[in-house]
Amino acid sequence: MPETARQLGRLVVSENRHSYTSKIETTQTVAVKPDLFRILLLGAPGVGKGTQAKELECLLGIPSISTGNLLRAHVGQRTSLGRVAEGIMGRGELVPDPLLYQIVAERLQERDTAGGFILDGFPRTLNQAVWLEDRLATLGNESPTIALRLRMGYKQLLRRVTGRRNCPVCQSIYNIFVNPPKRDGLCEKDGSALVQRTDDTVSIFENRMRAYSELTAPIVEHYRRLGRFADVDGDRPIEVITAGIAVAIANLRQCSRRL
Ligand code: AMP
Repeated sequence: MPETARQLGRLVVSENRHSYTSKIETTQTVAVKPDLFRILLLGAPGVGKGTQAKELECLLGIPSISTGNLLRAHVGQRTSLGRVAEGIMGRGELVPDPLLYQIVAERLQERDTAGGFILDGFPRTLNQAVWLEDRLATLGNESPTIALRLRMGYKQLLRRVTGRRNCPVCQSIYNIFVNPPKRDGLCEKDGSALVQRTDDTVSIFENRMRAYSELTAPIVEHYRRLGRFADVDGDRPIEVITAGIAVAIANLRQCSRRL
Protein backbone atom coordinates (compact mmCIF):
# COMPACT_ATOMS: atom_id res chain seq x y z
CA MET A 1 0.00 0.00 0.00
CA PRO A 2 1.14 3.57 -0.58
CA GLU A 3 2.91 5.03 2.42
CA THR A 4 2.14 8.69 1.90
CA ALA A 5 -0.27 10.62 -0.28
CA ARG A 6 0.00 14.15 -1.57
CA GLN A 7 -2.18 16.28 -3.79
CA LEU A 8 -1.35 16.65 -7.45
CA GLY A 9 -3.61 17.71 -10.30
CA ARG A 10 -5.02 14.59 -11.87
CA LEU A 11 -2.33 12.03 -11.20
CA VAL A 12 -2.49 8.74 -9.37
CA VAL A 13 0.71 6.82 -8.78
CA SER A 14 0.62 3.81 -6.53
CA GLU A 15 3.40 1.48 -5.53
CA ASN A 16 3.70 -1.52 -3.31
CA ARG A 17 6.33 -4.11 -2.65
CA HIS A 18 5.31 -6.41 -5.49
CA SER A 19 3.85 -4.24 -8.18
CA TYR A 20 3.87 -0.81 -9.64
CA THR A 21 1.03 0.95 -11.40
CA SER A 22 0.51 4.51 -12.49
CA LYS A 23 -2.11 6.32 -14.50
CA ILE A 24 -3.53 9.76 -14.99
CA GLU A 25 -7.06 9.90 -13.63
CA THR A 26 -9.60 12.41 -12.44
CA THR A 27 -8.83 11.97 -8.75
CA GLN A 28 -6.43 14.22 -6.82
CA THR A 29 -4.06 11.91 -5.06
CA VAL A 30 -0.54 10.82 -5.74
CA ALA A 31 1.15 8.33 -3.49
CA VAL A 32 4.86 8.63 -2.97
CA LYS A 33 7.31 6.66 -0.89
CA PRO A 34 9.04 8.68 1.80
CA ASP A 35 12.60 7.63 0.91
CA LEU A 36 15.20 10.08 -0.16
CA PHE A 37 14.52 11.87 -3.46
CA ARG A 38 17.49 13.28 -5.35
CA ILE A 39 16.29 14.51 -8.68
CA LEU A 40 18.20 16.27 -11.44
CA LEU A 41 16.14 18.15 -14.00
CA LEU A 42 17.91 18.41 -17.35
CA GLY A 43 16.76 20.09 -20.54
CA ALA A 44 17.32 22.96 -22.93
CA PRO A 45 16.75 26.59 -21.89
CA GLY A 46 13.04 27.41 -21.77
CA VAL A 47 11.85 23.82 -21.61
CA GLY A 48 10.17 24.39 -18.23
CA LYS A 49 12.67 22.99 -15.73
CA GLY A 50 12.04 25.82 -13.28
CA THR A 51 8.28 25.47 -13.43
CA GLN A 52 8.44 21.72 -12.96
CA ALA A 53 11.01 22.05 -10.16
CA LYS A 54 8.51 24.19 -8.25
CA GLU A 55 5.68 21.71 -8.93
CA LEU A 56 7.84 18.83 -7.68
CA GLU A 57 8.84 20.85 -4.62
CA CYS A 58 5.15 20.99 -3.59
CA LEU A 59 4.50 17.40 -4.58
CA LEU A 60 7.48 15.82 -2.83
CA GLY A 61 8.04 18.29 0.00
CA ILE A 62 11.73 18.79 -0.79
CA PRO A 63 13.48 21.97 -1.92
CA SER A 64 14.16 22.82 -5.53
CA ILE A 65 17.55 24.39 -6.14
CA SER A 66 18.11 26.44 -9.26
CA THR A 67 21.76 27.22 -9.93
CA GLY A 68 20.59 29.99 -12.28
CA ASN A 69 18.68 31.60 -9.38
CA LEU A 70 21.63 31.16 -7.00
CA LEU A 71 23.92 32.83 -9.52
CA ARG A 72 21.43 35.65 -10.19
CA ALA A 73 21.25 36.25 -6.42
CA HIS A 74 25.06 36.63 -6.36
CA VAL A 75 24.87 38.99 -9.32
CA GLY A 76 22.15 41.04 -7.59
CA GLN A 77 24.16 41.23 -4.37
CA ARG A 78 27.32 42.20 -6.27
CA THR A 79 29.39 39.50 -4.57
CA SER A 80 32.80 38.71 -6.06
CA LEU A 81 31.36 35.50 -7.52
CA GLY A 82 28.42 37.45 -8.93
CA ARG A 83 30.70 39.98 -10.58
CA VAL A 84 32.58 37.19 -12.38
CA ALA A 85 29.37 35.37 -13.37
CA GLU A 86 27.42 38.40 -14.59
CA GLY A 87 29.08 38.92 -17.97
CA ILE A 88 29.27 35.19 -18.68
CA MET A 89 25.58 34.72 -17.97
CA GLY A 90 24.75 37.80 -20.02
CA ARG A 91 26.38 36.14 -23.03
CA GLY A 92 24.52 32.88 -22.47
CA GLU A 93 27.72 30.95 -21.75
CA LEU A 94 28.36 28.56 -18.88
CA VAL A 95 29.86 29.90 -15.67
CA PRO A 96 33.14 28.06 -14.80
CA ASP A 97 32.67 24.81 -12.89
CA PRO A 98 34.62 25.84 -9.72
CA LEU A 99 32.17 28.68 -9.07
CA LEU A 100 29.26 26.28 -9.44
CA TYR A 101 30.92 23.82 -7.07
CA GLN A 102 31.19 26.55 -4.47
CA ILE A 103 27.51 27.57 -4.57
CA VAL A 104 26.12 24.04 -4.90
CA ALA A 105 28.33 22.69 -2.09
CA GLU A 106 27.14 25.51 0.18
CA ARG A 107 23.48 24.92 -0.69
CA LEU A 108 23.69 21.16 -0.16
CA GLN A 109 25.03 21.77 3.37
CA GLU A 110 21.71 23.30 4.36
CA ARG A 111 19.48 21.14 6.50
CA ASP A 112 16.43 21.31 4.25
CA THR A 113 18.23 19.14 1.68
CA ALA A 114 18.64 16.22 4.11
CA GLY A 115 15.47 14.52 2.82
CA GLY A 116 16.39 15.09 -0.81
CA PHE A 117 16.28 17.89 -3.36
CA ILE A 118 15.49 18.77 -6.93
CA LEU A 119 18.38 20.32 -8.83
CA ASP A 120 17.29 22.59 -11.66
CA GLY A 121 20.09 23.49 -14.06
CA PHE A 122 22.86 21.47 -12.41
CA PRO A 123 24.80 19.51 -13.58
CA ARG A 124 25.36 21.16 -16.94
CA THR A 125 28.72 19.57 -17.76
CA LEU A 126 30.00 16.04 -17.40
CA ASN A 127 32.58 17.28 -14.89
CA GLN A 128 29.78 18.78 -12.81
CA ALA A 129 27.93 15.44 -12.90
CA VAL A 130 31.01 13.55 -11.65
CA TRP A 131 31.68 16.20 -9.01
CA LEU A 132 28.10 15.92 -7.77
CA GLU A 133 28.31 12.15 -7.35
CA ASP A 134 31.52 12.56 -5.32
CA ARG A 135 30.05 15.34 -3.26
CA LEU A 136 26.92 13.38 -2.41
CA ALA A 137 29.03 10.37 -1.50
CA THR A 138 30.94 12.50 1.01
CA LEU A 139 27.65 13.72 2.46
CA GLY A 140 26.80 10.10 3.17
CA ASN A 141 23.65 9.80 1.07
CA GLU A 142 23.32 6.39 -0.48
CA SER A 143 20.11 6.67 -2.44
CA PRO A 144 20.90 7.08 -6.17
CA THR A 145 20.43 10.33 -7.97
CA ILE A 146 18.05 10.16 -10.93
CA ALA A 147 18.13 12.42 -13.97
CA LEU A 148 15.10 13.48 -15.97
CA ARG A 149 15.29 15.37 -19.22
CA LEU A 150 12.40 17.52 -20.40
CA ARG A 151 12.20 17.64 -24.20
CA MET A 152 10.71 20.11 -26.65
CA GLY A 153 11.33 21.23 -30.25
CA TYR A 154 13.56 24.24 -31.07
CA LYS A 155 10.80 26.61 -32.26
CA GLN A 156 8.69 25.94 -29.21
CA LEU A 157 11.71 26.50 -26.92
CA LEU A 158 12.36 29.86 -28.53
CA ARG A 159 8.74 30.87 -28.05
CA ARG A 160 8.87 29.78 -24.42
CA VAL A 161 12.09 31.68 -23.72
CA THR A 162 10.97 34.93 -25.31
CA GLY A 163 7.56 34.72 -23.57
CA ARG A 164 8.96 33.94 -20.13
CA ARG A 165 8.36 36.42 -17.30
CA ASN A 166 9.63 35.98 -13.74
CA CYS A 167 8.59 37.29 -10.36
CA PRO A 168 11.70 38.89 -8.84
CA VAL A 169 10.34 38.34 -5.32
CA CYS A 170 8.99 34.75 -5.12
CA GLN A 171 10.65 33.45 -8.33
CA SER A 172 7.32 32.26 -9.80
CA ILE A 173 7.56 31.75 -13.54
CA TYR A 174 4.92 32.79 -16.08
CA ASN A 175 4.75 32.79 -19.84
CA ILE A 176 2.80 35.37 -21.77
CA PHE A 177 1.96 32.75 -24.43
CA VAL A 178 1.33 29.55 -22.54
CA ASN A 179 0.89 30.44 -18.85
CA PRO A 180 0.02 34.14 -18.51
CA PRO A 181 -0.63 35.70 -15.08
CA LYS A 182 -4.28 36.54 -14.32
CA ARG A 183 -3.41 40.25 -14.04
CA ASP A 184 -1.23 41.43 -16.89
CA GLY A 185 2.44 41.78 -15.85
CA LEU A 186 1.81 41.03 -12.17
CA CYS A 187 2.69 38.01 -10.05
CA GLU A 188 -0.41 36.12 -8.89
CA LYS A 189 1.20 35.25 -5.54
CA ASP A 190 2.55 38.59 -4.34
CA GLY A 191 1.48 41.19 -6.92
CA SER A 192 5.07 42.12 -7.84
CA ALA A 193 5.77 43.48 -11.33
CA LEU A 194 7.07 40.62 -13.47
CA VAL A 195 10.42 40.99 -15.23
CA GLN A 196 12.02 39.47 -18.30
CA ARG A 197 15.46 37.94 -17.86
CA THR A 198 18.14 39.78 -19.81
CA ASP A 199 19.34 36.48 -21.30
CA ASP A 200 15.86 35.54 -22.57
CA THR A 201 16.45 37.13 -25.98
CA VAL A 202 16.72 35.47 -29.40
CA SER A 203 20.47 35.98 -29.87
CA ILE A 204 21.44 34.93 -26.33
CA PHE A 205 19.08 31.97 -26.62
CA GLU A 206 21.15 30.70 -29.54
CA ASN A 207 24.33 30.83 -27.44
CA ARG A 208 22.61 29.04 -24.60
CA MET A 209 21.36 26.35 -26.97
CA ARG A 210 24.89 25.88 -28.29
CA ALA A 211 26.26 25.47 -24.76
CA TYR A 212 23.44 23.05 -24.02
CA SER A 213 24.05 20.86 -27.09
CA GLU A 214 27.82 20.78 -26.68
CA LEU A 215 28.20 20.46 -22.92
CA THR A 216 24.95 19.41 -21.30
CA ALA A 217 23.52 16.87 -23.73
CA PRO A 218 26.44 14.40 -23.10
CA ILE A 219 25.36 14.16 -19.46
CA VAL A 220 22.35 12.21 -20.63
CA GLU A 221 24.55 9.32 -21.73
CA HIS A 222 26.28 9.31 -18.35
CA TYR A 223 23.01 8.80 -16.46
CA ARG A 224 21.54 6.53 -19.13
CA ARG A 225 24.51 4.18 -18.76
CA LEU A 226 23.89 4.11 -15.01
CA GLY A 227 20.22 3.21 -15.61
CA ARG A 228 19.10 6.37 -13.86
CA PHE A 229 17.74 8.41 -16.73
CA ALA A 230 14.34 9.10 -18.32
CA ASP A 231 13.03 11.45 -20.98
CA VAL A 232 9.78 13.32 -20.40
CA ASP A 233 7.82 15.15 -23.11
CA GLY A 234 7.87 18.81 -22.03
CA ASP A 235 5.43 20.07 -24.64
CA ARG A 236 2.23 19.42 -22.72
CA PRO A 237 0.18 21.22 -20.05
CA ILE A 238 2.09 21.82 -16.81
CA GLU A 239 0.15 19.31 -14.69
CA VAL A 240 0.43 16.59 -17.35
CA ILE A 241 4.22 17.05 -17.47
CA THR A 242 4.39 16.86 -13.68
CA ALA A 243 2.39 13.65 -13.84
CA GLY A 244 4.80 12.28 -16.45
CA ILE A 245 7.75 13.19 -14.24
CA ALA A 246 6.19 11.53 -11.20
CA VAL A 247 5.62 8.35 -13.17
CA ALA A 248 9.21 8.41 -14.48
CA ILE A 249 10.55 8.91 -10.95
CA ALA A 250 8.52 6.00 -9.61
CA ASN A 251 9.71 3.77 -12.48
CA LEU A 252 13.37 4.67 -12.01
CA ARG A 253 13.21 4.20 -8.26
CA GLN A 254 11.59 0.83 -8.76
CA CYS A 255 14.39 -0.17 -11.15
CA SER A 256 17.17 1.18 -8.91
CA ARG A 257 15.88 -0.93 -6.00
CA ARG A 258 16.53 -3.98 -8.15
CA LEU A 259 20.16 -2.99 -8.91
P1 AMP B 1 19.20 29.10 -15.92
O1 AMP B 1 18.44 29.99 -15.01
O2 AMP B 1 19.26 27.68 -15.44
O3 AMP B 1 18.71 29.19 -17.36
O4 AMP B 1 20.71 29.60 -15.93
C1 AMP B 1 21.04 30.91 -16.36
C2 AMP B 1 22.51 31.01 -16.62
O5 AMP B 1 23.24 30.73 -15.43
C3 AMP B 1 23.05 30.02 -17.64
O6 AMP B 1 22.87 30.47 -18.98
C4 AMP B 1 24.51 29.97 -17.23
O7 AMP B 1 25.20 31.13 -17.67
C5 AMP B 1 24.43 30.03 -15.72
N1 AMP B 1 24.34 28.68 -15.12
C6 AMP B 1 23.30 28.16 -14.43
N2 AMP B 1 23.56 26.92 -14.04
C7 AMP B 1 24.81 26.64 -14.47
C8 AMP B 1 25.66 25.50 -14.41
N3 AMP B 1 25.25 24.37 -13.80
N4 AMP B 1 26.87 25.58 -14.98
C9 AMP B 1 27.31 26.69 -15.58
N5 AMP B 1 26.56 27.80 -15.71
C10 AMP B 1 25.31 27.79 -15.15
